[in-house]
Amino acid sequence: MFGKRITLFRLFGFAVHVDLSWIVIAVLVTWSLAAGLFPFQFPGLSTGTYWLMGIAGSLGLFGSIIFHEMSHSLVARRFGIPMKGITLFIFGGVAEMDDEPPSPKAEFSMAIAGPLSSFFLAAVFYGLYIVGMQGGWPMTFNGVIGYLGVINAILAVFNLVPAFPLDGGRVFRSILWGWRKDIRWATRISSAFGSAFGLFLIFVGVLNALRGNFIGGSGSS
Ligand SMILES: [Zn+2]
Repeated sequence: MFGKRITLFRLFGFAVHVDLSWIVIAVLVTWSLAAGLFPFQFPGLSTGTYWLMGIAGSLGLFGSIIFHEMSHSLVARRFGIPMKGITLFIFGGVAEMDDEPPSPKAEFSMAIAGPLSSFFLAAVFYGLYIVGMQGGWPMTFNGVIGYLGVINAILAVFNLVPAFPLDGGRVFRSILWGWRKDIRWATRISSAFGSAFGLFLIFVGVLNALRGNFIGGSGSS
């Protein structure tokens, strides 16, 4: 599944790896924050400051995803599911599992832990942002934690879409599995939702690209 990857560190006994494809995301996120979002939201700062904010935002995102995957892994371990470790790659993070979970309850708990941990981080960052705005903390700091609050809320909501193998799809599968006591059937149904959601994303992507071309073609030339 992965290309070349580097082991960064171990946390609670889990190895945290980063696939080289993650670097593409790190660069894209840093760049879009430093050259796009932050100058737009907080005009009047220096270019160097925006880049520092971009790097801080991208490191914060990196930490948030590790926190999310770590939550899956810790809950999985409580249920005795052997976990291989955490890998960050181009589509985010994944907590690698050796086997299917032993019961619907184990899968439900393990899957829901990720989005809950992201909601928790969103609340913490948003709380800090409110305190910081009222306390007159530096705009550079408030900007970065405000971004982290929003991005964690997006991560939580996106992962709750009931499309297998997203977390929400695993939650959905565990409910079906618990209902009919048939993991194959549950997997088939939740995977069908997953494929439909994948097609929907491609459709939206193509639509956006087409619209971008139309605007670019008629507007800027
Ligand atoms: Zn997750």
